[in-house]
Amino acid sequence: MQVFDSQELLDRAELEKLQAVRLKNTVYQATASLFYRNRLARSGIKVAQVNSPEDISRLPFTTKEDLREHYPFGFLAMPREKMVRLHASSGTTGTSTVILHTQNDLNTWADLVARSMHCAGVRSSDTFQNMSGYGLFTGGLGIHYGAERLGCLTIPAGAGNSKRQIRMLKDFQVTVAHIIPSYALHLSSVFKELELDPRSLDLRILLIGAEPHTEEVRARIQEIYGVQAYNSYGLSEMNGPGVAFECAHQTGMHLWEDAYIAEIIDPETLEPVPEGQVGELVLTTLCRKGMPILRYRTRDLTRFIPGECKCARRHRRIDRITGRSDDMMVIKGVNIYPMQVEKVLMSIPEVGQNYLIQLEREGYLDQMQVRVEIRDEFFVEDMRELQKLQQKIAGLLREEILISPKVDLVEHNSLPNSQGKAQRVVDKRNEPG
Ligand code: AMP
Ligand code: ZN
Repeated sequence: MQVFDSQELLDRAELEKLQAVRLKNTVYQATASLFYRNRLARSGIKVAQVNSPEDISRLPFTTKEDLREHYPFGFLAMPREKMVRLHASSGTTGTSTVILHTQNDLNTWADLVARSMHCAGVRSSDTFQNMSGYGLFTGGLGIHYGAERLGCLTIPAGAGNSKRQIRMLKDFQVTVAHIIPSYALHLSSVFKELELDPRSLDLRILLIGAEPHTEEVRARIQEIYGVQAYNSYGLSEMNGPGVAFECAHQTGMHLWEDAYIAEIIDPETLEPVPEGQVGELVLTTLCRKGMPILRYRTRDLTRFIPGECKCARRHRRIDRITGRSDDMMVIKGVNIYPMQVEKVLMSIPEVGQNYLIQLEREGYLDQMQVRVEIRDEFFVEDMRELQKLQQKIAGLLREEILISPKVDLVEHNSLPNSQGKAQRVVDKRNEPG
């Protein structure tokens, strides 16, 4: 097995030794920031008490609200003059937060992205199109510098402008692209419009990430494009892409434990969940000097996959993110995650590439409506056929989510498409009727 750097192959003992040293340095470095100076003083913990990765549980958590309250510079652990780049989170859950990097921080980040891409089989001989949005979003420059670091011919395509994307894929004989999964599905309908078969391109690998998606969506993307699609996970607070990535085996994402300490906790009790169970991912930076973050509560729900990967990497794997703890919808007393709905919809052959969940309140009752695009070839005039399909979808959804949503079948390409992260749920329950 070819690896990108030596730390990729460290065994558990070596990894934990490295984590211990880096954690201590990170906590020490963090005390230089206004936020952690106060927070650590209040919790009474001293750097001298942090000597092993397990000691992390003595440290206080950091939340998105902390970052917001100390916006924009309260977490800086080095003088502002040392900072060379600022990024922001996409703000899907409120005002965005900003993260600043030194040149050295950017270098380690680029190395991690390069390692991640290499781990998914990308090589310096590849031509790589980055379809993530550039700008404050970390998927643009974050992936870009990693791809160049790996040595790929790198095309900074950015998001959107689908016909131009397709033209570039074709003209430049692109072999690898990074793309948001909902956009990959949408783009397939533009290929159709252009009467071009996506499988006729030179593409061999798609890196898909930045938003939750199901195994069913991966399968569709692989089928449509005739590629292997690898899951790519990251968040701006932890740099961005390059936190966890799939290897050739596609059995969960290796989380780079030389650069991050990962914990999975019960979001209610804040205690670690038993091995292999789903909980909230908590991450600590180990290599960032400009703006270290300790025990960041990501809100992302996942689990450690027990056992070792078939590859030689010993960095533990996390399962695909099933959603965010704040994504959970409570409808008629039942807890439902959007990915449960996606899983059902995307396994139905008649269902097209887009859907939208709408929540409304009728009287005192919450109603869930699922609007589903139907593939052209199945969108028939015959009302009875459509009704049958509608009932089939409603029935399969009920089996998964235990309530019966209203199912609305709509024509292909009629739901809003986003070039960035897809908005899967529109909640109108608190809007004045
Ligand atoms: P941002 O920092 O704005 O780019 O958003 C980061 C968030 O995007 C993460 O906390 C996750 O909720 C989501 N995300 C990123 N990558 C993935 C992925 N591969 N699967 C599921 N969710 C993801
Ligand atoms: Zn592996």
